[in-house]
Amino acid sequence: YNRQRLLVVANRLPVSAVRRGEDSWSLEISAGGLVSALLGVKEFEARWIGWAGVNVPDEVGQKALTKALAEKRCIPVFLDEEIVHQYYNGYCNNILWPLFHYLGLPQEDRLATTRSFQSQFTAYKKANQMFADVVNEHYEEGDVVWCHDYHLMFLPKCLKDYNSKMKVGWFLHTPFPSSEIHRTLPSRSELLRSVLAADLVGFHTYDYARHFVSACTRILGLEGTPEGVEDQGRLTRVAAFPIGIDSERFIRALEVPDVIQHMKELKERFAGRKVMLGVDRLDMIKGIPQKILAFEKFLEENASWRDKVVLLQIAVPTRTDVSEYQKLTSQVHEIVGRINGRFGTLTQVPIHHLDRSLDFYALCALYAVTDVALVTSLRDGMNLVSYEFVACQEAKKGVLILSEFAGAAQSLGAGAILVNPWNITEVAASIGQALNMSPEEREKRHRHNFHHVKTHTAQEWAETFVSELNDTVIEAQLRI
Ligand code: UDP
Repeated sequence: YNRQRLLVVANRLPVSAVRRGEDSWSLEISAGGLVSALLGVKEFEARWIGWAGVNVPDEVGQKALTKALAEKRCIPVFLDEEIVHQYYNGYCNNILWPLFHYLGLPQEDRLATTRSFQSQFTAYKKANQMFADVVNEHYEEGDVVWCHDYHLMFLPKCLKDYNSKMKVGWFLHTPFPSSEIHRTLPSRSELLRSVLAADLVGFHTYDYARHFVSACTRILGLEGTPEGVEDQGRLTRVAAFPIGIDSERFIRALEVPDVIQHMKELKERFAGRKVMLGVDRLDMIKGIPQKILAFEKFLEENASWRDKVVLLQIAVPTRTDVSEYQKLTSQVHEIVGRINGRFGTLTQVPIHHLDRSLDFYALCALYAVTDVALVTSLRDGMNLVSYEFVACQEAKKGVLILSEFAGAAQSLGAGAILVNPWNITEVAASIGQALNMSPEEREKRHRHNFHHVKTHTAQEWAETFVSELNDTVIEAQLRI
């Protein structure tokens, strides 16, 4: 039988493309959450549509890349440098990303952004139209089109303008902020209306879905119902679909000989000390300075722990060309240096801070040897690091300290110690509670989280979203 075709549209294709010659490319699949989620879904035939992350100005190069990508079921959208600058760096990363995470713009950028807003929004719409053109070219009747994230809020409308029968879903991977925040956006109404063109709109948590519905009722004056948002008899279904991870991939990794060897080395290296771990992109939303200051306070107040605990912070560089991110990097380095100077000895320092990423196996080994994981996001759509840590803790049953501002707090709240990352006193006390927790309580908390992570997988998330989208369209047809 024929499987239903699923067109997954996201800003970035899940590949990194490197040009080797005029008409040759080498491609590497990047195994992010979304990729492994959809690889696991066998009932659909998935194809990817998105930007390959490189500028390809010449036709020979474009043709060759298109051909190479086709083998990986990927279809490229070619964006030129100016569009990428205005749409991606500008509107997506400088406007929508901070706004959706409740971060104000840096003071010196505020007026500059206000002035360039209109041209960036125009570029955003233009880029979304370019995605729509490619989708439309490859669309066949009966296909499901699944649009992803804040980069493509304009896409559902563009697609429905082409073909009102297209089944269109849109999922947001970040938080959706309170309507009081959303309404400061000059393009607030246009964005909401274009998202509402979709048949199904999904978020990680009920809170985000509720914020979206109240933005539509307050800003557009539409009617919110338990099912979604209604506009002149037409319903846009709005619901929560919390994403998960491919937990088996992590559990299996812990049986790989290299990983076992690596774990042994880490255990020897940190023998006699409890290991605390942070894994984050070095982004403002992750609350890394807050986390490190809380750790300092803990050391300050608990002298007996000073030579018995170490914090390993993996800070993956991101957007390193942006001054705001460079400032954050130096700020973090300064705090780490100060604390290591203050509490270090000739042979040991309390914080190991790494400005780099780790490969999958190294990351799994680290998750597995950790006693306490610290996630202090100021805002975070879901936070998959917390899920991955739990998946790797069957042997150790370590403790997760988790920000209440991460989407994951809604699902791992019963097993984790939830904290307000702005309250350094509270986080420091939680570190003490975690380090001193009885094995029975650790076991109980871990059981709860592990069960959740194992049963709510990425694959199940993708299947649920797509089948809900199919159902929504059928129900809409029955209503007419
Ligand atoms: N990650 C990685 N290499 C690293 C550190 C992290 O591949 O060195 C991955 C990690 O496994 C996780 C993702 O990066 O899947 C981070 O996802 P999360 O939802 O926690 O935060 P995001 O970066 O999407 O804001």
